[in-house]
Amino acid sequence: LKRFPLLLGIDIGGTKLALSLGSAEGEVVRHFRRPIEASGDARRDVARIAEDARRLLVDAGVDRSRVEAVGISAPGPVDVRAGELVEPPNLPGWGRVPLVAWVEAELGGPVAIENDANAAVLAEWRFGAGRGLRDLVYLTMSTGVGGGLILDGRLYRGPRGNAGELGHILLEADGLRCACGLAGCFEAYAGGAAWAKRLRDETPAGSAAAVHAGGSEQVTAKHLVAAALDGDAFALAEFARWREYVARGIATIAFAFAPERIVLGTIAVAAGEDLCFEPLRARVRELVWPAISDGLEIVPAGLGSRLAELAGLCAALEAIDATVAG
Ligand SMILES: [Zn+2]
Repeated sequence: LKRFPLLLGIDIGGTKLALSLGSAEGEVVRHFRRPIEASGDARRDVARIAEDARRLLVDAGVDRSRVEAVGISAPGPVDVRAGELVEPPNLPGWGRVPLVAWVEAELGGPVAIENDANAAVLAEWRFGAGRGLRDLVYLTMSTGVGGGLILDGRLYRGPRGNAGELGHILLEADGLRCACGLAGCFEAYAGGAAWAKRLRDETPAGSAAAVHAGGSEQVTAKHLVAAALDGDAFALAEFARWREYVARGIATIAFAFAPERIVLGTIAVAAGEDLCFEPLRARVRELVWPAISDGLEIVPAGLGSRLAELAGLCAALEAIDATVAG
């Protein structure tokens, strides 16, 4: 094992835990994944995560003293200053969790936390599809629509740490109910969970999407991609509807920030150029002034399955930056 300083990354997803030991240059020397299920007792769940982290260090033959910082990527909402999760809907029973304090008590510091979309934009910016840029927006396009902003060469969190919640931009007056409690949000139209709920009701029995899924009630965006690539009319129409909302969301973001690049994750990556990016770019050009759209690239995320490992490491890098900044 090389002698460079190491970082420990902890990525807590709604269904998976990913731990990684790596360098500031994004070289992952050891990683570990397991399913995660919130037991309802957050203290016990965190103790188990810390146990896995200590074992990862032992397995890698690395002493804790060599780890410069620990970074946590966690489902929002996150209070970054207090180091707390604020009743994350994806971790039932966790409530308000002082995660940074708990992990510091278990593993030692410094420990930093980012919400998962912010950790992801940091990872895409440092190591993925946004390398070398000063202004970049990332949209997760997964179960929900998470957003992250790199503005003027750094992660923009806003004064209270909750800037970039782009999935809750209003796209429809009197629109569909969103998981956040509001109505008409971007996520209510373009998020994977909201889409799957709609597809359960709308997918025709016997259609290609229903066949791919093994039944109309099982259809998700993934099956819709397969059906659309087969030329299925229902699946193509669903993608056209989804793209329209994604284009509207992107238009708002483009007018607000005029970034050099907007990077789209999961569902957009699965859909690819023909179903997503090519027609999406054309529609965005219709919705946004040329002065802004001419300088805007809309591209797929670059990290794929490496994202979970790198997101935690990037959160750890922010801990070091914060230490340096005092
Ligand atoms: Zn919402």
